[in-house]
Amino acid sequence: NAKEQGVEIRRYIPAMQMKAKERLKLENDLRRALERDEFYLVYQPQVLLETEEIVGMEALLRWNHPKRGLVSPVDFIPIAEESGLIVPIGEWVLKTACQQNKTWQNAGYQPICVSINLSMRQFLQPNLAGKIDAILKDIGLDPSYVDLEITESMTLDKETAFDQLNRLKRLGVCISIDDFGTGYSSLHYLKNMPIDRLKIDRSFVSDVMEDSNNAAIVSTITSMAHHLKLKVTAEGVENKEQLHFLRQQHCHEAQGYLFSKPVKAAEFELSFLKPLLE
Ligand code: C2E
Ligand code: CA
Ligand code: CA
Ligand code: CA
Repeated sequence: NAKEQGVEIRRYIPAMQMKAKERLKLENDLRRALERDEFYLVYQPQVLLETEEIVGMEALLRWNHPKRGLVSPVDFIPIAEESGLIVPIGEWVLKTACQQNKTWQNAGYQPICVSINLSMRQFLQPNLAGKIDAILKDIGLDPSYVDLEITESMTLDKETAFDQLNRLKRLGVCISIDDFGTGYSSLHYLKNMPIDRLKIDRSFVSDVMEDSNNAAIVSTITSMAHHLKLKVTAEGVENKEQLHFLRQQHCHEAQGYLFSKPVKAAEFELSFLKPLLE
């Protein structure tokens, strides 16, 4: 029996080692990805439900790995986060997304807001607001066209989060809580944090038509947002029935495959940007 267990263990360890090795390899590749220009951003439209106008876009990071091809952010963001690489990568995202937005404004399109995901490590940097301020000034982008997405878990240390959010708000940017409902933020936090918007997590929206509990959750978050004078965006809207439900709840904005998957800048410009009317 002990021998059998030994076999079990021997079979198990190499698999573990391979995983660690694999991870290390990916981390090393990630370390070089910035200088090798392997990242790019895709943009997903955010639609105002009342008018169906595109009022914003979320910038989402893509890594074109030379051997593996496209690696999902779900697979590499955690590695970037743990290794600290997310800080320079996140700065690249901020600069690239803001520059893209400014380029489109300069080209004469109706201005829209760009939403940028912040990671925990980035959010915990004391000089984050200073860095963002410098980026915005350098590019010449009006801060009101930038929305920073944080998650509930980043607000767990209440004092730190409160100070950081105030510094960011003073710049004039918007702040959204991403994946809302999946973490735990107490209502007390919500009432006091200087935030502008809740993004209802995709998991609640996706089967809102089949699961009456999810419908109740979406409806409750939306009405709470209204009472707290926060904007509310539904994520992961994939069909007309969901859209209809969200309209009934007076949800402000929606994002999801029903409107578009995230697309490259050139395609976003072609499909979604409107020239300014004189
Ligand atoms: P997220 O911020 O919640 O982004 C939404 C994710 O849902 C995106 O996945 C998007 O492509 C996907 N999505 C949008 N609409 C639909 C829909 O209708 N149905 C379905 N099934 N999915 C939809 P993506 O691009 O793979 O990104 C995954 C996560 O990786 C993001 O989740 C975010 O947490 C992280 N991420 C992406 N880009 C960045 C970045 O620049 N910085 C940081 N820190 N995290 C990022
Ligand atoms: Ca997001
Ligand atoms: Ca989200
Ligand atoms: Ca997410």
